[in-house]
Amino acid sequence: MPVELPIRLEVLFSAEAIAAKVDELAGQIRQDYGDETVILLGVLKGSFHFLSDLGRRLADTTIVDFVQTSSYGSGKSSTGIVQIRKDLDINIEDQNVLIVEDIVDTGTTLAHLRELLAVRKPRTLKVVALLSKPEARKHKTQVEYVGFEIPNEFVVGYGLDYGERFRNLPYIAILHEG
Ligand code: 5GP
Repeated sequence: MPVELPIRLEVLFSAEAIAAKVDELAGQIRQDYGDETVILLGVLKGSFHFLSDLGRRLADTTIVDFVQTSSYGSGKSSTGIVQIRKDLDINIEDQNVLIVEDIVDTGTTLAHLRELLAVRKPRTLKVVALLSKPEARKHKTQVEYVGFEIPNEFVVGYGLDYGERFRNLPYIAILHEG
């Protein structure tokens, strides 16, 4: 039987700090897009709290859609090939698309997603990520709006899970095992 190691959570960003950061990001996005319609494209599942909070600060100039990706590999190692498991419902040709990501780690998901979407000829294609781990980056990929840069640690909460646990924590914490 596998031994379960004790888990300890170390709070990195409180709910208040996250709310202030989402305010700041929404302000930048409003300024950059003005009155233009923007498709907020959430990457499931981790981005759902972030997209919900960000979307309410951008209100009526946005359309919401979701995409879900999966990278195939054995165990924890990915082949680096990202496939779309759940595609968008709407046509993005000639639209402003803003990919909403919870976290950019190696950059693999985002690099592939950008390529897959670019062929559909959006007018603009940008990314907002609440968290970024610059030290973990393997694929160079542009992230136009970054909330917090964090060290190369595994984090949970505010949409981010560990085996489907901890997604609904209102804060973001580093997960320590053992
Ligand atoms: P990437 O393709 O950039 O390596 O990884 C992106 C995805 O890996 C994220 O959307 C997220 O689902 C997952 N991920 C990367 N780092 C973390 C982390 O620290 N915590 C959690 N819960 N998921 C992460």
